[in-house]
Amino acid sequence: MAKKKIETCAFCGRPGSASEVMIPSGVTPGIYLCAECADQIHDLLSEYRHQVGTGVSSGKSVPGTKEGDKKLADLPKPKDICKFLDQYVIGQDSAKRYLSVAVYNHYKRLAQAQAAGDKEMADVDIEKSNIILVGPTGTGKTLLAKTIARMLDVPFTIVDATVLTQAGYVGEDIESLLTRLLQVADYDVERAQKGIVFIDEIDKIARKGDNPSITRDVSGEGVQQGLLKLLEGSIVNVPPQGGRKHPEQKMIPVDTKDILFICGGAFDGIERKIAQRLNTHVVGYSTDAARQRVNRDNYLAYVAPQDLKSFGLIPEIIGRLPILTHLDPLDRDALRRVLTEPKNAITRQYEKLFAMDGVKLTFAPEALDMIVDKAIEYKLGARGLRAIVETVMIDAMYELPSGKTKKFEVTADYVVEKLQQSHFELNKDVVKDS
Ligand code: ADP
Repeated sequence: MAKKKIETCAFCGRPGSASEVMIPSGVTPGIYLCAECADQIHDLLSEYRHQVGTGVSSGKSVPGTKEGDKKLADLPKPKDICKFLDQYVIGQDSAKRYLSVAVYNHYKRLAQAQAAGDKEMADVDIEKSNIILVGPTGTGKTLLAKTIARMLDVPFTIVDATVLTQAGYVGEDIESLLTRLLQVADYDVERAQKGIVFIDEIDKIARKGDNPSITRDVSGEGVQQGLLKLLEGSIVNVPPQGGRKHPEQKMIPVDTKDILFICGGAFDGIERKIAQRLNTHVVGYSTDAARQRVNRDNYLAYVAPQDLKSFGLIPEIIGRLPILTHLDPLDRDALRRVLTEPKNAITRQYEKLFAMDGVKLTFAPEALDMIVDKAIEYKLGARGLRAIVETVMIDAMYELPSGKTKKFEVTADYVVEKLQQSHFELNKDVVKDS
């Protein structure tokens, strides 16, 4: 007897039984596309059309993007940028607004050479708008920068400021952060010169003491001085392989004037400096009313350049990071949303992994609450959510692909049981530090 052929998706291999509907090919019999892949294709296409735009071109181009020069009129407007960020990042409205405007202006700035039609405007030079994001760890600083780069399709790299040292000392030279940008741009210097660099933990290179002349501060002020020339825009000789291990390598000159630098840091303890400033500066007639308006639970919302200076950033660096904004701590509600709402939310990723084995995975609402409770209890924040879900799911991921189960629901009891079995609580500090 001939075996009945099982319908499977030609894209992901999902069996027909695991999909809402299978779309047959109009050309080749027996070829199907599952509903989930069709959904994904639809999302990708909308994203692509949204980025490329369908409007009439202005003729002014913004160089440096992958598929050739993008037209100024086709660039997403700040509101579009913000909407795109909303799909991936929960909350952080203030940071999203500032970032959207800064990125839009940055690309307008790149187009200004071509846009110099108006004679009066030709002499106006739009200055670079590097950004500094201040917010507790695990609140989305890196995610915001990554999402922006994804949208603009430009080379993007993350560097940790703590590994940088002043030239001549043990550690990485400051130029090495451009090496990484060159590498992700496949050594296409033109593209790298329009890229985005995210410098994480910028607070860790704060000046250590008040008197810079007494102690040699090779990983603090020395690095800040070194960063200056990169941030303001200059031609830097970059070692293509990085490091000092290849002294014979030929340097590549990279112009940093159009590279967008986004810096991020937790600035632990800066709230105290902000509070101090707010208390001492709000004087006179308006004192009471102004003080009452201050939300004492979130001093970060009032962060100003002078607070960064009190923290130990040198004024020249602060001056080259003109856009300063903050991120809010993620409360229970935000953490719950992080679990399920972003386009590539953790739970969605697992649902997809299981669907590929033909298993319909669901998380009971109480299970999600429990995961959030545990992340809060263990003080792990958003970063802990993933670690918890991974720990909870490991057994199911091991067992289900070889079994017959077609449906699997994660309940609150299951979460507790798996966390206990894995001794998660004992190992949670490893998650915190990772
Ligand atoms: P940091 O502020 O320390 O740079 P990250 O951006 O690296 O934090 O966030 C760590 C992880 O936590 C991200 O990969 C993401 O999964 C999650 N996350 C943090 N904040 C948010 C947020 N606001 N929205 C969605 N996910 C978030």
